[in-house]
Amino acid sequence: MTAFAVGDAIDAVYVVAVLVFILGLQAMSAPSTARRGIVYAGVAMLLAVIATFFSPHLTNFALIAVGVIVGGLGGWYWARVVKMTAMPQMVAVFNGMGAGAAAAIAAVELLGHLPDRATAGLSLAGGVIGSISIAASLVAFSKLQGWLPSRPIVLPARQVVNSAVLVVGVGVGLYAVVAVSTAWLLPFFVLLLLYGLLLALPIGGADMPVVISLTNALTGVAVGLDGFALVNGPLGDAGYAMVIAGVLVGSAGSLLTVLMAKAMNRSISNVFFGAFGSAPETGGPVAGQLKEIGASDVAALLAYANQVIIAPGYGMAVAQAQQKVKELADLLEAKGVPVKFAIHPVAGRMPGHMNVLLAEVGVSYDKLFDRDEINAEFANTDVVLVIGANDVVNPAAHRQGSALFGMPILDVEGAKNVIVNKRGQGKGFAGIENELFYRDNCHLLYGDAQKAIGDVVSELKKTS
Ligand code: NDP
Repeated sequence: MTAFAVGDAIDAVYVVAVLVFILGLQAMSAPSTARRGIVYAGVAMLLAVIATFFSPHLTNFALIAVGVIVGGLGGWYWARVVKMTAMPQMVAVFNGMGAGAAAAIAAVELLGHLPDRATAGLSLAGGVIGSISIAASLVAFSKLQGWLPSRPIVLPARQVVNSAVLVVGVGVGLYAVVAVSTAWLLPFFVLLLLYGLLLALPIGGADMPVVISLTNALTGVAVGLDGFALVNGPLGDAGYAMVIAGVLVGSAGSLLTVLMAKAMNRSISNVFFGAFGSAPETGGPVAGQLKEIGASDVAALLAYANQVIIAPGYGMAVAQAQQKVKELADLLEAKGVPVKFAIHPVAGRMPGHMNVLLAEVGVSYDKLFDRDEINAEFANTDVVLVIGANDVVNPAAHRQGSALFGMPILDVEGAKNVIVNKRGQGKGFAGIENELFYRDNCHLLYGDAQKAIGDVVSELKKTS
């Protein structure tokens, strides 16, 4: 095949890869097809990488192959061993690697093409966004992993300092391009990385879902800009593929960011610049008493309920109790008690966390209801069973002065009886007391969710 024909074949594979990417994204929009979507996206990426290896202009073949093998094996191994509860950290760090790759491509383009203003300008923009995104992703990873405190870390005069670092960093980069001086590129990248750190440190752990999805979108934009910069070079066609992939990631990530921010009733600027959670909690001690309940009493309440709504949260994921929860729901339905699941969009530690766990054990999608669909039903429900959820059912969100104020919650307290399963007096992710637990209609079923729900299942089997 001539070089021209090889180039055409590679282009054709890129087009197929892009179409498969789009099909993958479409499939990811519904829980029932999401797994298929992930597979499509993986296949598309594989196609694009393999096609690039055939490019007649590719140099450093061996080095790239080593990178692909090391990265591929590392990613494969980590994704296999990661616990479901550590998935958000993994997403954050993988996203950071994408951003790092985008910043590295920008650096190579800047070093190689500094006199070419158009290429240098695009690479500079890719470098700014990629650097901010990798630094912010690593902070998100460290906070979720517990390496950094999850509370906002607020430095003095941070708005002024942060803006100054950003302005000086971008200014240094522009100067490097205008003066065609590679010596200024290192300070440019260091300042932008520093800005990414300073931007993410004052953001509390509870806002990390929004940070992860926004840095994901930024990584997509950085990759797209790098793609534009590559288009005029010898690997130009790979540049087009990168532009399209970057735009897809950027737009999907932006939409997810808006959805997540809405779920927490926060504006994006409030998440990033509000140091949410750093103000002291107001309101004083919660009135009322904590009342314990045993598994057999819970089973009796459930067996005679007109309807049961299960509200799962992070604790169900920690305990890996989803199988027991499914068993409980099946048993109740077999006894003629309708069961629904109330799914809060930020329950757990990543978008869709509860949907994934419940899908894993075969809970049918038509039993899952999001907050807006189910909130009005709590008032007509005999029993709500909260399993390892805390912040997403905390009525403090309705009270001004609470750190959770304004977060749309599942209004479970409206039900006749609320049973909350948790291990002890642990607080939720936001670290604040939950007023629900002290309400007259609320009882606590203490214990690890897998064991506690297992006990309820055993007791329920004894009832006729
Ligand atoms: P929370 O983290 O608020 O509460 C979890 C509850 O589970 C605690 O009350 C804890 O109490 C209990 N628990 C822990 N382990 C177990 C166990 N083994 N068995 C039974 N209970 C257990 O969870 P929510 O799901 O209500 O809220 C999610 C929070 O996380 C929100 O603040 C959200 O903003 C944030 N977040 C969400 C992300 C997302 O994308 N979904 C990402 C990052 C943060 P105890 O210790 O007493 O057992």
